[in-house]
Amino acid sequence: MTISRKGFLKALGFGILASQVPRGWAAAAAKIEESGAGKLRIKDVEIYAFDIPLKQPFRISLGVSNAANDVLVRVVTDSGIVGLGESCPFPPITGDTQDTNLLMARSIREMIKGKDPLAVDSLLGEIGHIVYSNPSIVAAFDMALMDILGKAAGLPLFRLLGGDKATFETDITTGMDTPEKMAASAGAHASQGYKNIKMKVGLDPDLDAERVQAVREAIGKDVRLRIDANQGWTVPQAIYALRKMERFNIQFVEQPVVAWDIAGLKAVRNESPIPVCADEALFLPQDAMKLIKAEACDYFNIKLMKAGGMTNSIRIAHLADAANMRCMVGCMLETRLALTAGAHVVASQRNITFADLDGYTDHTLDPIVGGMAVSSSGEITLPELPGLGLDVDPAFLKKLKRV
Ligand SMILES: [Mg+2]
Repeated sequence: MTISRKGFLKALGFGILASQVPRGWAAAAAKIEESGAGKLRIKDVEIYAFDIPLKQPFRISLGVSNAANDVLVRVVTDSGIVGLGESCPFPPITGDTQDTNLLMARSIREMIKGKDPLAVDSLLGEIGHIVYSNPSIVAAFDMALMDILGKAAGLPLFRLLGGDKATFETDITTGMDTPEKMAASAGAHASQGYKNIKMKVGLDPDLDAERVQAVREAIGKDVRLRIDANQGWTVPQAIYALRKMERFNIQFVEQPVVAWDIAGLKAVRNESPIPVCADEALFLPQDAMKLIKAEACDYFNIKLMKAGGMTNSIRIAHLADAANMRCMVGCMLETRLALTAGAHVVASQRNITFADLDGYTDHTLDPIVGGMAVSSSGEITLPELPGLGLDVDPAFLKKLKRV
């Protein structure tokens, strides 16, 4: 029996090569045409500064915060799709501020106007050519572009990225205070139903051990406990403190020593009975590579404000996955806008098994409608809506002045 080339290709299912586009494909192509993919353009970028005072000062080993000082960007396209992004710089860690973010945002606005918002990777490359060390504002633009991408595709971002973890647990953090006050705060969170508690340490190793003991006694033995030293200890102090804390069943310690000391971090990891998680030592994917090569830590704490957004956060998660490491996504003091972007990253990556997305809990107001919902016990659920799945409360937006 002989078969023609056309018949052969058809038999293989390559009808398109043999004749014309199969039925159904034309409709799909028309749908893509209709979405404007490849033709969408950025018409304008609205930039706003806003501050959210905290209910109470938040103290860590590096200092005290009284408010979130943020920047909102609204990237407006010619099709009417608007992407939302938020920067929440935390100067002692990220090195940028609301003011430097506003300056950079103006330059980025001029650079991206008229360009294709779906070309996220190319645009981030171009942004990288004009921005150095303002990771928070890059994060704001990255999440706004990702929001547009999800909206154009008609999918929640975590689903567009291949994830299915619509619901997962976040911890809640107790700031630095006396052992008694920290125990009261953490104990209250545990009674509320939180199964993961994080607490700040990193001042005096003996007092820190007392803090940990008080908190462990208050939350009981079944609640998971993470501690964060925010670079506060020397290498010998960290080894001493962590050995002393071993009996309190701690899941991991974040950034025991100063951010730049990778050898010191590794020395602590080698001697510590408690797993070590890099936080301030990890900003960008290249930092992840260095930490992996040095075998300096067990886990990564990825933050959008350090990594410059969702895209780099996902790159870090992929590097960690290749090194058989698990990650957490953490936060600064973001509103539910940037926190929801972080939640989409968590939901889309299988090796991100820890979340610390509680930055909004001490905010005096919540300017976001939609977005991630958080139960009283810390269960985060993402909305089944396109993109980030949220908006800025119109009444809040009305009060802001464009920059
Ligand atoms: Mg930390």
